Amino acid sequence: MIYLIGNWKMAPEKSLKAVELTKASAAIAKQYKKSVTTIICPPALFLSGAQKQVKVPLLIGAQGVAASDAVAQTGLMSAAMLKDVGAQYCIVGHSEMRARGDSNTYVKEQVMRLLEKKISPILCIGEQQRDEQGWYLSEVKEQLETAFADLAPLQAKKIIIAYEPVWAIGSKATRAATPMECREMLIFIRKFLSDRYGEKVAKTIPLLYGGSADEFNAQTFITDGEAQGFLVGRVSLDPKRLALLAKAIS
Ligand code: PEP
Repeated sequence: MIYLIGNWKMAPEKSLKAVELTKASAAIAKQYKKSVTTIICPPALFLSGAQKQVKVPLLIGAQGVAASDAVAQTGLMSAAMLKDVGAQYCIVGHSEMRARGDSNTYVKEQVMRLLEKKISPILCIGEQQRDEQGWYLSEVKEQLETAFADLAPLQAKKIIIAYEPVWAIGSKATRAATPMECREMLIFIRKFLSDRYGEKVAKTIPLLYGGSADEFNAQTFITDGEAQGFLVGRVSLDPKRLALLAKAIS
């Protein structure tokens, strides 16, 4: 099964549009359900609206969670709240959140809070830049080591990892990663998981790619890049392109 996860970020502006987008995503999820698991991650404000619209096989996720359950955290949401409005998944460690201050340790705590509420974390990891010496691998290794530090195999199995090189994400990206760059990193991640939990557990953790993935390049990320799915930003807001992407990977 290939994952297709849409990160809506801070869009759309109107709740009516969010309902339309949810319905369109639900139709795509239904059409490609045999081979694609489709998850949408709308802004938190639209989650309960989405919950009313969402019909299996479309699944919903959130975009962030507080790292502790203390009530005095203005502006944040707890894992319990997300669970209550139907979130089954939640993005953590996205580079846009890390840029606003979420450290590896904070991300690790977010993962814990989500697992306590039986929400699957979509853990984003990725390097800021690539370098000839391969230091970018250490950057990713540190993200992995911290996030998985206290996780037992059964907890680790609930996680979805999205490899998102920061330089490839969003409208400022100069290019997507190449399938070979993706492949190298996914092998590196799989090796980390395998050393820690054994091959059997490591194989159950989906490894996705994110960063300027689209209907044109997605197929080669699967065939040559070993990606088991995608976390997409811009394409998830355009149902026509999302449908073409789902078709390409189905
Ligand atoms: C993202 O923000 O997670 C992302 C992958 O964005 P985009 O697909 O727009 O590059």
